[in-house]
Amino acid sequence: MQGTGGNPVGLPGSNFPNMTPFGLEQEIKPFRCPVIGCEKAYKNQNGLKYHKQHGHQNQQLKENPDGSFSIVDPVTSIPYPGTVGMEKEKPYRCETCGKRYKNLNGLKYHRQHSPPCNPELRNQMQGLGIGPPSNLGMNANVAGAGLGPMGDMGGF
Ligand SMILES: [Zn+2]
Ligand SMILES: [Zn+2]
Repeated sequence: MQGTGGNPVGLPGSNFPNMTPFGLEQEIKPFRCPVIGCEKAYKNQNGLKYHKQHGHQNQQLKENPDGSFSIVDPVTSIPYPGTVGMEKEKPYRCETCGKRYKNLNGLKYHRQHSPPCNPELRNQMQGLGIGPPSNLGMNANVAGAGLGPMGDMGGF
């Protein structure tokens, strides 16, 4: 009666390793810039280091007790409250999506290339009837009214 060892173990090989495969579509960027108002994030520490050296080199930063950094007003040497420092740094803001740009060209480029943020593109789309289909069927049979045989007689 040696009934030891007959332990019903789970099927070998049925344990699918619950690993996360490399190459996920969404990039994980855990190294976020600690400067308040700056939303840059990087995949590795070097990227963040480079950004902190070059992205804020003409800003004065003050470390907060919680590890974040505030941008200091160079005139008064008082840290800007909240994201004001970043707003001063990038005064051109897209009112539609909220992205900020240092210069007007950046904002212009952005608005020209993103239709949701470009009122002209939006108007064009509405003018083409891509907007809300309000009067479908009203003028569906108008086409063909003015199509006569405009033959070129040749003059002479
Ligand atoms: Zn930053
Ligand atoms: Zn925008």
